[in-house]
Amino acid sequence: MRVLKFGGSSVANATAMSRAMDIVEGEASSDRVLVVSSAISGCTDALIEIGKRPVHERKELVDALRDKHIRIIRRLFSGSSREEAIAECKALSEMLLEAPSDECVTFGELFSTRILYRKFADEGYEALWLDSRKLIVSDDLAASYKAIREALAAHPDARVIVAPGFIASDSTGKVTTLGRGGSDYSAAIFAAALDAGALEIWTDVPGIMTTNPKVVPAARTIGRMSYEAAFTMAEHGAKVLYAPTVVPAREKGIAINIRNTFDPSHPGTVIESASPSGVCRWMGLSSEASQGNVRLNLVAEGPLDSQESLKRVTEALKEAGIAPLDSGHDDSLVWVTVRPEVERQASSALHREFFEEEKLRSFDVYVAGNGAVGKALASLIESGAAVRSGKEVRIIEISSDRNFAAKVLANAHRRSVFVDCTNSEDIWKMYVPLLEAGINIVSSNRRSLAVPYVEYAAMKQAALRSGVFFRYSTTVGNALPILESVAMETSLNYFEAVVSCTMNNIITGYDGANTESFATLLHHAQMRGLTENDPRTDLGGRDALRKLLILAREAGVPLEEEDVTITPLLGKEYFNCSLEDFYSKLELAEPEFIRREAELDEIDKRQRFVASIHKDPSARTGYKAEIKMQLYGISSPFYWISGTQNIVEISSEGTAPLVIKGAGEGAGQAALGILADILR
Ligand code: ASP
Ligand code: MG
Repeated sequence: MRVLKFGGSSVANATAMSRAMDIVEGEASSDRVLVVSSAISGCTDALIEIGKRPVHERKELVDALRDKHIRIIRRLFSGSSREEAIAECKALSEMLLEAPSDECVTFGELFSTRILYRKFADEGYEALWLDSRKLIVSDDLAASYKAIREALAAHPDARVIVAPGFIASDSTGKVTTLGRGGSDYSAAIFAAALDAGALEIWTDVPGIMTTNPKVVPAARTIGRMSYEAAFTMAEHGAKVLYAPTVVPAREKGIAINIRNTFDPSHPGTVIESASPSGVCRWMGLSSEASQGNVRLNLVAEGPLDSQESLKRVTEALKEAGIAPLDSGHDDSLVWVTVRPEVERQASSALHREFFEEEKLRSFDVYVAGNGAVGKALASLIESGAAVRSGKEVRIIEISSDRNFAAKVLANAHRRSVFVDCTNSEDIWKMYVPLLEAGINIVSSNRRSLAVPYVEYAAMKQAALRSGVFFRYSTTVGNALPILESVAMETSLNYFEAVVSCTMNNIITGYDGANTESFATLLHHAQMRGLTENDPRTDLGGRDALRKLLILAREAGVPLEEEDVTITPLLGKEYFNCSLEDFYSKLELAEPEFIRREAELDEIDKRQRFVASIHKDPSARTGYKAEIKMQLYGISSPFYWISGTQNIVEISSEGTAPLVIKGAGEGAGQAALGILADILR
């Protein structure tokens, strides 16, 4: 059984009714369909008005309502069917004229569903009309379920069953309603009683939207949401769904699909059990009247950090020049009240803040570090490289000043982008304050990420809470898509990475007796700025260590420095002396290097300086982490890299390893990667 509910505007006139019937017919070909309908739009309001009047003052209003329905009938029926439908409509109108005040409101759904039922029967369907007043007991779900099941069991042949929404009886048998908007609830009760395979609420908007599109045109459909979030939205002002509807559906695990009658191909919103993701997701912004003011509610799914969120709300409103009158929160929402005059601006500001991040089109960028990478980034942006993406990127300031980050924190507006292309060891301490202030961060500074894991996690958290981005894909493998690839891993076996350019360059460039000495090559690299100021930082594996930490953490492994076993290329004696002594020691060892190189040629292997993690249940993190020289034969892609190329092999359960290889070095490449991070 499929239960389809149509709202007032979906049956407002003959055209709308035909559309609704098309939808029913489409579904009735494969299953039985139970159609629950509201009264035609405006009808319930008119009936409430009629109920307020003494019997002798009702005629004019009742006649108008009757004629509206008769016009629909004339469009839909002909011949004797038309006469019969009109006769029934007139009879209902007569009853309405005399009805007790509080029962008038129940006539709307009778008018509409009797027409629908007749039309289905007229078209040859095995049709059945059910009287919801006799089946639904307003405060007794168990009794309602039983009555509905029995009613259906008595008519096993019925294919299209039509039932009025909204109306019911109370436990004394007196006719009543389920409350304004209650037809949705009727449909859910029918669906739950019959263990329906589908519950569709057909309305005039494409599902539950992030906010009221009439107030904020940028509102968009929420594709999926949990029963809880839908209930909260509905409870707090979202008109599209009557909150109690969720209860029987959730109880029976029936998904509620909210669809648009006027755009049936749109998938709308699916309301179902939440998938426990552990992160806070913003679902929607609803608005409700509150003591002469407007209360705006931001509804979340998952754990909500109410203090952070309220701060974000206040900041966003402040930016729009609005001071909230009051604010608060509960488990699943934060709210503010504002004066009615500013509802539109306030809603737009909050919607932009929480739901339109991806729509950001222009970025104000502050660049820390006016070195090779900073300069390359500036000229890349000046050359209009961002234009193709349809976005605008402006560099507001570029600086090597040590206090630049603090200055940005004090002056930059929210949603600006702070780019860290420094080599600073301590600039990372500014990251959390910047992120918390709503400033996005793009970093190419490995040192900022290779901090203790708790600090790294705190930065990620801060970004998530403030709804800003924090990207650093160039910290490993420069512009190569390495970090995003490991981040997608769910069942990682291992990765092996040659990501230290300096080491690569020297190791792949060195060929024993055929090239200059190892010391000379290293010195050249140092002169060309390819190494750290003291090249031993690279040789000792420090640079590789940083990259390994970042890679592992991105793959979900909370690696710390202590977890990594480093086997440096050279012994201790090379490290505890002056740079000058270091070079002369290296020169003295050249014959040894030549011998080793010849040995490798003999066995057709090459050595690479590799950072890796391999699954190992005995390790603290579940992975053994190492940095050391490894030998590769000619069948390995690691054999074939040269110069400053990087290569990473990522292996996960059940699939062939992924290999990423390419330029790992160069300020121009880094700038491209940074710009991609800004625009992503
Ligand atoms: N016709 C009723 C109302 O307007 C019930 C409904 O439409 O859901 O409140
Ligand atoms: Mg409704």
